[in-house]
Amino acid sequence: MNYIHVDMLRLQAQTLQALEERQGFVPCEGLENVTSCEAPAEYLMPDATRPGGGGSDIEIRPAWFCRKHLSTLLGRDPGVQPVIRRIEGPEE
Ligand SMILES: [Zn+2]
Repeated sequence: MNYIHVDMLRLQAQTLQALEERQGFVPCEGLENVTSCEAPAEYLMPDATRPGGGGSDIEIRPAWFCRKHLSTLLGRDPGVQPVIRRIEGPEE
């Protein structure tokens, strides 16, 4: 079960807005063994494991991912989230 505190949601929304205003999109953070990914992020994982400061430490924090890299992490396509689908309206 995933959950996110409203303060974290607020912080990430501010980050999203600031980066989009500055560079047009939020970049994917890539996988732990991939140094960079130029694709725009489509998903925020609230409890991603990422390399910490100093190299070897692992930290758990929110991270932005493109669809391809989140698919790799999940082992499946992330798909369309039900609430988003409802906001955008059914395609059929
Ligand atoms: Zn990526």
